[in-house]
Amino acid sequence: MILYGDYHTHTKYSRHNHGKGTVLENASAAQNKGLKQIAITEHGFNHYAYGIRRKDVPSVKEDILNAREVTGVDILLGVEANLISDGGEIDVEEQDFEFLDILLMGYHKLVKFAHKRDYINFLLANKFGSPYFPSKERLNRNTTAFLKALDKYPIDVITHLNYGCPTDTLAVARLAKEKGTLIELNGKRINFTDQELLTMASEGVKFIVNSDAHSPEKVGECNNALNLIYRLDLPLSQIVNIDKLPKFATKR
Ligand SMILES: [Zn+2]
Ligand SMILES: [Zn+2]
Repeated sequence: MILYGDYHTHTKYSRHNHGKGTVLENASAAQNKGLKQIAITEHGFNHYAYGIRRKDVPSVKEDILNAREVTGVDILLGVEANLISDGGEIDVEEQDFEFLDILLMGYHKLVKFAHKRDYINFLLANKFGSPYFPSKERLNRNTTAFLKALDKYPIDVITHLNYGCPTDTLAVARLAKEKGTLIELNGKRINFTDQELLTMASEGVKFIVNSDAHSPEKVGECNNALNLIYRLDLPLSQIVNIDKLPKFATKR
């Protein structure tokens, strides 16, 4: 099993020392590990602490052009957008699609939500609710938010599904398959059960293996996801970046 690309990496543009390295350092790490392609995907704009600022985007672009030239690694510019409402809104605006090569989306806590109600119904309910035994109401609200986001936006990858926000993974996988959205097998954390993963796989949804690196040395480090694939014997034809480069299916 050879990993061809890592599509979820952070740099210093994820603010307040959250991401540790530069674009060039991430790309050099990728080059040393034999990766052909990476994506720079900072936290989305509404993240209070770590989000990239829109005014930094041109400078990321410039860093990418330079790092491509130096390392020969192909580098996509993306963002790890935040889910910001139970109605499926995310913190990406129409004009952002001009620079986005790839759109990742996940649930994070420290974000500016779209409506007052989201802080109560969505943020607090998930913060103080059980990660393993969510109430039916909470599970439905979370699942609906993800489904609506998939419907509204051309999301390429759902990051760390169920992390801090449990969902009906089968319902999410079914719509993701229809939309061409990939479910991430995250190098740092897997928040669904083996059974949930096998059920999602049997629906035919495709997966992508990513490090979620916040420092250059973690780029391409996805052993726990690779071990999971091996242990559960997941079909490699459903993993888009092992032994091949992915094609991102969403249209924009
Ligand atoms: Zn994340
Ligand atoms: Zn991330």
